[in-house]
Order: sequence, then C-alpha cells, then structure tokens
Amino acid sequence: MTMNPFQELNTTLIACRLCHRLVAWREQVAREKRRAYRDWDYWGKPVPGFGDLAARVLVVGLAPGAHGSNRTGRMFTGDASGDFLYAALHRAGFANQPVTKHREDNLALRDMFISAVCRCAPPDNRPTPAEITTCLPYLRQEMALLTQMQVIVALGHIAFDTILHLYADCYQGTNFEMRRFQFSHGASYHLGPHDPHLVASYHPSRQNTQTGRLTPAMFDAVWIATLALLR
Ligand code: SF4
Repeated sequence: MTMNPFQELNTTLIACRLCHRLVAWREQVAREKRRAYRDWDYWGKPVPGFGDLAARVLVVGLAPGAHGSNRTGRMFTGDASGDFLYAALHRAGFANQPVTKHREDNLALRDMFISAVCRCAPPDNRPTPAEITTCLPYLRQEMALLTQMQVIVALGHIAFDTILHLYADCYQGTNFEMRRFQFSHGASYHLGPHDPHLVASYHPSRQNTQTGRLTPAMFDAVWIATLALLR
C-alpha cells in the first residue's frame, strides 16, 4: 500500500531513538505505569502530529505528558492539559467533541493540526535544548507538508521561541528581527509577507490552569483571535 507523506514521516518518527535520555524515560514510564492506568498498554514511543492534513491552523505544544500522550499515543490525549485544550477547541469549533480519552475515540479536528517541538515524554516535562534541536526536523517536515497553514499557535514560551528560531533559520542573511517578537499570552505576529501569523498562548498545563494563570476565558480568546486571522 502506498503511504502518503504524513504516513511516511510518522513511520520514521515512531521508530526514532535518537535521544537516549528520552528513549529510556518514555520506555521506563511505559513499563512501570501509573497505578490508575495499570491495565493500559502504554504507547511509550514518539507521538505523531494529529489532525486535519489540510489545516490552516497549526498548534505547537512542548512534549508528550508521561501518562498522557505517552500512554495514549495521541497529542494531548489523556491528561489534564488535553482536557483543558480539547474542551476549548470544541467551544471554538475546531474539535468535534470536548472530551478525549484514547486515540480511537473518534475525535476529529477541523482546520487544525496539533504537534509539538519534542515528541518523546521528558522527565519533569522538560526536554533539553539539545533534545528539542534533535527533534525539530520532524516538526519542520510537518510544517512543509501543511501547505494551507496560515496561523501557528504556540503553547508556551519554549514552543514560541522554537518556532521563531525555525523562521530565523529560513531568513538567514536577511533582517528577521528576533527582538520584534515577545512572548505574552494572546500576542500575535505576522512572521513575514509569505509566512503565517504566530499567536502566543500560555501552555494549558495543570500548573497554569489550576493556579488561574490560564483561565478558560483567556484560552477562548486565543482561539477567537486565531479564527479572526484566517483568510
Ligand atoms: S525526542 Fe524526537 S528526536 Fe528525540 S528520540 Fe524522541 S522522536 Fe527522536
């Protein structure tokens, strides 16, 4: 059977073992499991991007949660961050259902593709800069395949900075002014005349949502702004 370019990319991604620390951690978590999920067969591998292959909106997170997408095998599925994210995406009309628990629950995204700067669950949810750099070719390839992309929503400071560095690389030798871009929740920038808009959002981590740093209303405002940028 012939594979489309996304399937080819995902086949390579899922077999990736380039980052020794992350490979060891994702597999240890998958073996040891959390008590509440002891009956689960953890995914325990790199997590592919998910969504509409003709999407105009790309959402970029940080990395899989140890017992979230490292367990379920789908972006933002199975943990508190995903619960907060998909409820908001449903309210905004990007997701067909507000609740997601496993990767075969018929969740579908409209006009949106979700990815991350690092595809393996890191200890303490913190990939190193070197691990992000090693993983970036996968995101770069997805971005090249998302030919309709008009808006990138970066979830968190690290995703925001990483996207900027990707574009700075593309603009090498020109006046791509990194200082022009400041991360703040809801900030929006046009990356270049033929490039997408970049929208910044706090990450929907449990730490941010439970402390009120990111409220449902603040998150809704990001998706409303994103919709307004689409042509
Ligand atoms: S983080 Fe990315 S580059 Fe590193 S092992 Fe996982 S998939 Fe491969």
